[in-house]
Amino acid sequence: MTNTSSPFSIGLTGGIGSGKTTVANLFGDLGAALVDTDAIAHQLSAPGGAAIAAIRSAFGDDFITAGGAMDRAKMRAHVFADAQARKQLESILHPLIRSETARAAAEARGDYLIFVVPLLVESQQWRNRTSRILVVDCSEEIQISRVMQRNAMPRAQVEAIMAAQATRAERLAAADDIIENNLDTAALLPQIAALHARYLSLAKTNNGDHL
Ligand code: ATP
Repeated sequence: MTNTSSPFSIGLTGGIGSGKTTVANLFGDLGAALVDTDAIAHQLSAPGGAAIAAIRSAFGDDFITAGGAMDRAKMRAHVFADAQARKQLESILHPLIRSETARAAAEARGDYLIFVVPLLVESQQWRNRTSRILVVDCSEEIQISRVMQRNAMPRAQVEAIMAAQATRAERLAAADDIIENNLDTAALLPQIAALHARYLSLAKTNNGDHL
C-alpha cells in the first residue's frame, strides 16, 4: 500500500456497485496505470493464492472449496456474524494485500497511477497515501438495482453490505473529485476525459511523469 514509485496517485473509490471498475477501466483506456486492490484480494484467496494456507490453518478445511479457493460465500456469512473472525481474516489478508499492492504499483506503467480501493474512505492509511480521492457516485437506489442484477443478490443482502460501508455523504465529504454515474456509460466519458487532462497536468507538476 505504498506509492513510492510515484508521488502522484489517485485513490478511486465508491460504494458497492457504484461503477468503480467501469470508471477505472475507462481511465486505463486513456493511459492511466491501474492497481485494483479488490482484484488483488481476490487473487490471494483464489486457488493457489498466497493466503490460502493461512486461511485453511486459521478457519479449517470447511472454508476452502474443493477447487482450493476460499469459500467466499461461507466466509462472508461467517465474518458478518463474528467480529473476531473478521479481524482474524483481515490480519491474514491485509499484510498480503499491502505487499502485493506495493509490488503492483512498483511495476505499473502509465501516465499516472490509480489505486481502486472499495473501502478507501474507511481507511486512514489509504487516505494518507493517495494524492487525490476520486469518488464514483450514484444514488443508493441505482447501486442496489445494479448489484441485485449483477450478482443475483436479494435486496436485503445488498442493503446489509451497504450498511457496513461508509455512507454516500461520508464518501462525498472525503472526495477531491467526483464522477457522477447515475446515467449510461456514455455519460461517463466527458467527465473522465476532463479529469484525465487534469490528472496528466498534476502528475507532471508533481513529478509523477517518470512512472
Ligand atoms: P463492486 O463494488 O461491487 O466491485 P463497482 O463499483 O466496481 O462494484 P462496477 O462493477 O463497475 O461497480 O459496476 C456495477 C455493475 O453496474 C456492473 O454490472 C456494471 O456493468 C454496471 N454499470 C456500472 N456503471 C453503469 C452505467 N453507467 N450504466 C449501466 N450499467 C452500469
